[in-house]
Amino acid sequence: MAADTLPMKHRRSSFWRGCRSAFRAALAVVMGEECVVCGRPLVGAGVCGDCWLRLPYTRLQGAVGNEIERLFWAEPRVERVSAFLVYKPEYKIAALVHAFKYHGRRDLACLMGRAMTRDLKATDFFDGIDAILPVPLSDRRQRRRGYNQSEALAEGVAEVLSLPVISTAVKRVVDNPSQTSLDPTERTENVKNIFALADAAALENKRILIVDDVITVGATLLSLVRTLEGIRGLRIRILALCAAGTYRRGRVSEHDLGLPDLTAHYDPSAVRRYPAEERKTTPLL
Ligand SMILES: [Zn+2]
Repeated sequence: MAADTLPMKHRRSSFWRGCRSAFRAALAVVMGEECVVCGRPLVGAGVCGDCWLRLPYTRLQGAVGNEIERLFWAEPRVERVSAFLVYKPEYKIAALVHAFKYHGRRDLACLMGRAMTRDLKATDFFDGIDAILPVPLSDRRQRRRGYNQSEALAEGVAEVLSLPVISTAVKRVVDNPSQTSLDPTERTENVKNIFALADAAALENKRILIVDDVITVGATLLSLVRTLEGIRGLRIRILALCAAGTYRRGRVSEHDLGLPDLTAHYDPSAVRRYPAEERKTTPLL
């Protein structure tokens, strides 16, 4: 409908709406704030309304048996796993992750921690959780970065759930090189024994939520879970902001796990041959 055909009341309200957004945009230019995803001027900090609507959500909603959870099926203590967003380097979401990981925007990690928690709050994913454990960063990297981004995410989660954050029970004792250029098998080797238990008693008989920023093949998280192996009565749930692997609905690909995917091989002679009559009537796709 063209603006001049709208009733007077609607024209007036859309006029004031236009004024308000122009004022907000002007204010944002003056304050120098912009959306970290699209770069448009923004009042407040972080992500604009448009980008919130367009973020690549996994829509896993903590569903039991989802494809990220399957990465941890060999670990009986891991009860549930979920991830909030899909990460690909070419997606604009990469700008947001880079901002809190490499450019000092700790506030964005807290913001995303709150957002991913509210997304799951209506489900049973957080039922019975006693405390939150961020994936530790080595002292050296934490000094260089100024903070641990997973701990900042965990603070956002803790704020919504009103739960304590335990950040001293496990230490990262090896500052392993970046995982980004490694294949899944190399990743597993790269993170072997990188964590050490500092205070097992703090985790005994608790159900904890491990919080991480990006989960790819789960190698770092599996290494952390194995470090916690001997703790009495410990149960684990895992929530990551982003899933960066190439997961397929229902099962994880061979590429994700670095394992042979036997279901990908088949014997062509075993494929059903249609009788001549049926072939004639079966439409070609
Ligand atoms: Zn935006």
